[in-house]
Amino acid sequence: VTKTGRIVKALSGYYYVRAEDASAGADDIQCRARGIFKKRGESPLVGDLVEFEETENGEGAVNAIHPRSSELIRPPVANVDLAVLVFSVTEPALNLQLLDKFLVHIEHAGIEAVLCLSKQDLAEDGEETEEAARAIRDVRRVYEPIGYEVLGTSSRRGEGTVELKERLQGHLAVFAGQSGVGKSSLLNALVPGLTLETNEISNRLGRGKHTTRHVELIDIGGGFVADTPGFSQLDFAELGIEELGSCFKEMRELASSCKFRGCTHIHEPECAVLEALESGDIAPSRHANYVLFMAEMKEKKRRY
Ligand code: GDP
Ligand code: ZN
Repeated sequence: VTKTGRIVKALSGYYYVRAEDASAGADDIQCRARGIFKKRGESPLVGDLVEFEETENGEGAVNAIHPRSSELIRPPVANVDLAVLVFSVTEPALNLQLLDKFLVHIEHAGIEAVLCLSKQDLAEDGEETEEAARAIRDVRRVYEPIGYEVLGTSSRRGEGTVELKERLQGHLAVFAGQSGVGKSSLLNALVPGLTLETNEISNRLGRGKHTTRHVELIDIGGGFVADTPGFSQLDFAELGIEELGSCFKEMRELASSCKFRGCTHIHEPECAVLEALESGDIAPSRHANYVLFMAEMKEKKRRY
């Protein structure tokens, strides 16, 4: 009998499949992939929806992989449809350049993004309350008008985590953000019983956390989250220079009003993006980062 399920873990050549109709607490089926995949140069990924059948000895075999809606290369996860970009209001300081870089990759992959501003408690207590308050204002002012959702959280105070969990319903999400912004703490706060290592612990043991670990999906009840806080980058397929503009959502929406087709929105006359920048409808930091990324991509292309 063929059943449908989701690969929630991959380890040593086995794929652990959670049947779609599995009752809560039921064991995942430990499956091998059929030889046909290897012949075609394909392999199942965590996140894949698959057709599988149970074989003798309580194991199973993956027979077919459903078409993927997205494919992350690093961490290797299929069908991610929501990225939670975690940035702390301070410690470490907010880095809009990094935020925009994440957004470019996420737009390119065609998945949804939610911005999570963590450590909100530091806007009230701590040594950098002003910096933290400014970070909150800046992010809301720049990103909400573009249409990105901004959620504030404090794992320390247990604030915003219920809202975040609600937002993850029905999705397969990944968390991304610099090391130290509080991703592990947030996941732990979200999922009862989860105990991902946070920074204090790994420092005490004198080693970096999550160095060579495999990816596993955490069932949050009505949604999945990849337990990937150790990955501070998301690598999707390579981005072409000509695609960069379309990865800035507010620029993409204006590009058809530019006079020239293929307008780079940097120096062309009658450019709708430059006009919007002039009138304050596009945030200076967004355009500046666009110009910077463009220069970086050109430099990289020149060198290789
Ligand atoms: P990760 O590297 O992104 O997974 O970050 P961690 O979850 O390991 O947290 C990094 C550091 O930030 C640890 O020292 C945490 O105790 C601290 N931290 C995490 N969440 C909060 C928070 O909501 N408020 C404050 N003040 N500190 C936090
Ligand atoms: Zn233009």
